Parts: sequence; structure tokens; C-alpha cells
Amino acid sequence: RREALAAERDLPAETLDRHGVGLQANVATAADARAAVSAGADGIGLLRTELPFLSHSAWPTQEQHTAVLVPVMRALVGRTVTARTLDFADDKLPPFLLPGAEHGRIGRGLPLMLAQPDAFADQLRSLLRAGAETDLRIMIPMVADLQELRACRRLLHRAADDTGVAAPPLGIMVELSEAVAAADDLAREADFFSIGSNDLTCQILRLDRRSPDATPAMAAHPAVLNAIATTVAAAHRHGKRVSVCGDAAAHPLVVPLLLGLGCDSLSVAPSALDEVRARIRRLSSAACSELVGNALSRETALDVWQLVRDQCMPSL
Ligand code: PEP
Ligand code: MG
Repeated sequence: RREALAAERDLPAETLDRHGVGLQANVATAADARAAVSAGADGIGLLRTELPFLSHSAWPTQEQHTAVLVPVMRALVGRTVTARTLDFADDKLPPFLLPGAEHGRIGRGLPLMLAQPDAFADQLRSLLRAGAETDLRIMIPMVADLQELRACRRLLHRAADDTGVAAPPLGIMVELSEAVAAADDLAREADFFSIGSNDLTCQILRLDRRSPDATPAMAAHPAVLNAIATTVAAAHRHGKRVSVCGDAAAHPLVVPLLLGLGCDSLSVAPSALDEVRARIRRLSSAACSELVGNALSRETALDVWQLVRDQCMPSL
């Protein structure tokens, strides 16, 4: 079966009724990047940059960022690379940010980085230089409001001045309910949206990210689908594209819903690319829209899973 799916690698990720869907990869290392390219990804929808530093005892320096980024970028010359800035969070905290560590508890995600503008600037300068031969985009995690996006844009422009590299597009992850609520304002100024369904689902459904109940399939919950619908509508009103880079983007019960909601691209682990492409090619975009029309008014994730199984579940 694996070989049969891989045989479709050169075929476009488009639905039966010819609706094209971007299909990109989530990576963290050069090996991941090579796997993504050989599995036919359109580019990288999420480069996680914090993972190499999870055992570090201090903020990574510009040189340390560069040492990690150069081999990754070398595997991606000429391709789209959506690099997410450091996203140290509760489930990925280095020793120097552990409670009680010298730097104390200064929050997580973006607020943490904005409180450390020098560390943030080191990463931005390194990304601009290391990614100069790629089609680089910068993506910021955990955005809650327009002020944060504007602060990041100022830092990005300063890094562009420092390095002499033109400022790349700046997009945001929509993974907090606050961002969904502010989606229209954010869509006016962000260059693109990428939905972080892992965090967004947990936040909306009040699940602990580390609990066994926090599965990718829970993104099918109507409350999450409604949040995604709001996000996509805001982005499209302002002519911006929406990707989904959480694990739900590769889940068979959720892919038809994301297509029906109008998401423009999916970004998945390199090992999932073949299966997701094959799934897209067996779905009709019209049927996915109809499915979503029914799903949004259901009550539970279980109801929606059943609906997907009944209406939109091609066998691979
Ligand atoms: C997400 O939250 O969906 C996401 C892609 O980011 P991470 O899993 O790294 O938090
Ligand atoms: Mg996240």
C-alpha cells in the first residue's frame, strides 16, 4: 500500500473536481528536510526552530542558530520555507526557562520572545542570512493580538536593515482563541495565516496538551471547526492564504473538513505526505463543503466523525 501511495508523488495534490491544495511539510532537521523534498512536498509549511535547543542552558546565540539552520536551508534552496520563530512552551521548555531557573518564569511563546528582544533579534538575523537562498517566510507562534504582530514586524525590519537582506513575508500561527477573535484585524496586517490545530484544539476544548484525550481527531469538534471557519473567512476577506500545520492536517477524519472549510494548504510530517496527497485526490471539494455545512451544527466530535465516515471517507 505504501508503494502504491508513493507512486502518486508526481501527481498534483488536487481534488476530484480539480481544486488544488498546497501540500507542505513540517520539519525540524536537515534529515527531515531531505525526506520532505524526496516525498514531493511543495515546500516547508512549518520549520520548528526551538527543538535543537531544548537541552540548552542559555538562550541560543546567533552563531548557534546559524549552525543549526544552514544544513536545513541547504537542503531547501529555491523552495518555500516557512520558518517559525522560537516557540518555547510548556511542553517544550529548555532548562534555562524551567520554573526556578535564573531567567525565571517570563511566560511562553511569543510574549517570552518579545520580552527578550536581543535573543529574538539574534534568531531573526540568523534566519534571514541562512535562508537567503530559499523562498523564506517568517511565522510567529502564539500570537494573541495586533500589537504583538506589529512588534514582530518592527523587529523583523530591524533585522533586515542589520543584515541587508530584504524583509520576507511575515505570517502568524492562529493557535489561540484570542487570535481567532482578532482574526479580521490580524488578517489585514499578517501576510499569511497558519492554523496550529494542536494548541488551538486544546485551548478551545480545555484539554491539557499532554493528556491522552488531546488527539488530532479532536479538531473535528464543532467548536474547533467554527473557529477555523471564522479564521479562514477573515483571511480570505483580506486576500491572505490559510494553511493548517497541526497534526489534524494529516488525520483522515479531519482532512475532508479542512478542505470543506476552505483551507488553502496542509502541512504535515514528511512521512504523511503520500497518504494525505492520495486522500486529497480521492475527495471532491463540493462534497467536503457540503460535509462542513452539516458538521458545523453538530454537538460533539463523535457526531462529526460519524458524519465524515458516512459522507466523505474514500478508501485508499
Ligand atoms: C500547533 O500548535 O498545532 C503547532 C503546529 O505547533 P506546535 O505543535 O509546535 O505547538
Ligand atoms: Mg503550537
